[in-house]
Amino acid sequence: MSESQNSAANAATDGAIQADVVIIGAGPCGLFQIFELGLLGIHAHIVDSLKHPGGQCSELYPEKPIYDIPALPVCGAQELVDRLITQTKPFNAQYHMGEEMVELKALEDHTFLLRTSLDTRFHARAVIIAGGLGSFQPRRLSVEGVEAFEGSRVHYKVKSASEFTGKRLVIFGGGDSALDWTLEFAGRARSVTLVHRRPEFRGAPASVAKMHDLVAHGSMRYVEAIGHSLMTEGAEFRGVRVKRTDGEIEELPADHALVFYGLHPKLGPIAEWGLNIDKRAIQVDTEKFQTNIPGVFAVGDINTYPGKKKLILSGFHEAALAAFAVAARLNPAKKIPLQYTTTSPIMHKRLGVPD
Ligand SMILES: Cc1cc2nc3c(=O)[nH]c(=O)nc-3n(C[C@H](O)[C@H](O)[C@H](O)COP(=O)(O)OP(=O)(O)OC[C@H]3O[C@@H](n4cnc5c(N)ncnc54)[C@H](O)[C@@H]3O)c2cc1C
Repeated sequence: MSESQNSAANAATDGAIQADVVIIGAGPCGLFQIFELGLLGIHAHIVDSLKHPGGQCSELYPEKPIYDIPALPVCGAQELVDRLITQTKPFNAQYHMGEEMVELKALEDHTFLLRTSLDTRFHARAVIIAGGLGSFQPRRLSVEGVEAFEGSRVHYKVKSASEFTGKRLVIFGGGDSALDWTLEFAGRARSVTLVHRRPEFRGAPASVAKMHDLVAHGSMRYVEAIGHSLMTEGAEFRGVRVKRTDGEIEELPADHALVFYGLHPKLGPIAEWGLNIDKRAIQVDTEKFQTNIPGVFAVGDINTYPGKKKLILSGFHEAALAAFAVAARLNPAKKIPLQYTTTSPIMHKRLGVPD
């Protein structure tokens, strides 16, 4: 590298967290990646746009049983995540949750500069993308012109509950988030109307009962409907119109709409990083699970190669081989022997197992 390139690289990496490896995505495969790296003595930082680890297992089917994890005839999806987190504990990975990785740049010296949505920056020697189907984004209220009010009048999460105290609220959704916030704001807000498209709710039955009780006591309203359009006056938000199940359009004047339609995964920024992508998945080799950018690896649902099957157990195998490839990259002069966890004293030391 020339001197000027060197100083540009130094300026870019100033203040960044120095990391051997950054894992993007804390689903089951990202979590197992921590373990496989840890066995080889490599510390990892792990970043996920969700507030909690677990990826699809925790977000989409936490209560469902999984039957094809080796040696666990049946295991709840959240239980699997909890077990993986426990298994990775000895390796003290640093978790950065609730941050989407938005930027990945390869530097001249073959290291990487990464930046998250909260502006956390990493200077890493290797990157492993375990991004699954992509980062989870809120499902949006599907009405014309909604973009103009998102973040100011139409919200997909509650950043600060005090913002809504004394306000007229329309809350959309039938899951736990919608019900929990409805119960929280009934009494604190000037008015609360819950809008849900059908009588069955996905949320906890006790919350549903409590909500109906509040309606019966006149503390809030419940309307069976879907969003129809926004009520606006010039550039001002005035509320929402909903289409009720009887076909009637009803106007709901409001200061804010809170929308809790759940999350869905979106490939998002990963598509912009110069990786070879085929049908929304990153192409990798099957020796190292390395992408077209040397030093950037991809494991789990996010990758593709001939014969790929999007199964947790495939991701576990990929994580093991990617860890060996990362170890070879970080220590090119060193031979990385295969060792058994059963018998290796150094692995016992890393795992905290007394010999
Ligand atoms: C209903 C259902 C049932 C299933 N049952 C089974 C089963 O029985 N057996 C089986 O083997 N598999 C099953 N699967 C599939 C299994 O869940 C996936 O194969 C597995 O979750 C993939 O793990 P992953 O870690 O690769 O990705 P994911 O679980 O998708 O996790 C990826 C994580 O990366 C994060 N992420 C993505 N992009 C970014 C970014 N830019 N910045 C920060 N974070 C990011 C996401 O927020 C997410 O948390 C099932 C899937 C579903 C939906």
